[in-house]
Amino acid sequence: MSELVSLKDLRPADLELWVQEAGQPAFRARQLLRWLYSQNSEDFQTMSDLSKDFRAWLAQNARLPCVVREQVLTDEDGTRKFLLRLHDGERIESVLIDEGRRRTLCVSSQVGCALGCHFCLTGQAGFKRNLTAGEIVDQVCVARRELGSEERLTNLVFMGMGEPLANLKEVTKALEIITSDRGLNFSTRRVTLSTVGLVPEMLQLIRLIPIKLAVSLHAADNETRSRLMPINRRYPLEELLAACRRLELPSRHRTTFEYLLLAGVNDSPEEARKLAKILRGLRAKINLIPFNEYPGAPFRRSSSTRVAEFQKILQDNHFTATTRQSRGAGIMAACGQLTHSH
Ligand code: SF4
Repeated sequence: MSELVSLKDLRPADLELWVQEAGQPAFRARQLLRWLYSQNSEDFQTMSDLSKDFRAWLAQNARLPCVVREQVLTDEDGTRKFLLRLHDGERIESVLIDEGRRRTLCVSSQVGCALGCHFCLTGQAGFKRNLTAGEIVDQVCVARRELGSEERLTNLVFMGMGEPLANLKEVTKALEIITSDRGLNFSTRRVTLSTVGLVPEMLQLIRLIPIKLAVSLHAADNETRSRLMPINRRYPLEELLAACRRLELPSRHRTTFEYLLLAGVNDSPEEARKLAKILRGLRAKINLIPFNEYPGAPFRRSSSTRVAEFQKILQDNHFTATTRQSRGAGIMAACGQLTHSH
């Protein structure tokens, strides 16, 4: 038998073509897409308006799902971490952060990561492989199933395991499925991709799909940044920020700059002033992230006084600067603690 086609790895237009090539009328593909993404079904037998023959043909030729939910860990603050198994036995994690009216899923884009940022557990574990588009899309389907019909998933962030722009082809395809009205129908305004700043890929993606960007800076000078993030040697701050200035953002979009505060490394008032200086003139907001320590972590968390002082300097320089509340720390799901992250 020929290899099974993984349905969620196909863009809606490609799935339509595939169904037509199988000799089925075009409306069958529309029905199938509805089952996959509106009804969130992963069993052909439940797709009741498809003919019995077509269901049997699908069972022989197609594969669902791409990820299998193995376990869900729930923190005291309501944050849920999904442990998911992939087709080849590899495992990934995604995290659902419930803040009342806003429910955000943090998805992974790679198994591991090759970029080796020194503060990040994923980076230390090394790179195994890229996720396919279907494996990214299916993380959203799992979270929607978990929430049920009463609660809606409102936002998506690509901030889990891996650097999404190092997997540009599959991430772009996943975003097409996620934002298509024949797919998961997410507004581009509700999707944010976090990157350490792979410059050409960043420019290419935003030209194709105008989602929001969160750029991980974590330092205001090249020396400190290169020490924390080896990618800075390839794309130093000047080049990265020049690219950010060139981004054609839809009106009212701003680029978020993430800044991880590490005690005694990058959290002084002088660093805050330097950061304000290099970001001047950009449509930017700054998200400060106090470091979440984990066993054996090489850095310490900045004191809350330091964090407040840093934030005030940015605000005095007319930037919107927020401090990210830590969520999911009890289940190792907070930023930097998944085997993760930006
Ligand atoms: S912070 Fe992001 S890019 Fe850096 S090692 Fe971790 S997952 Fe990779």
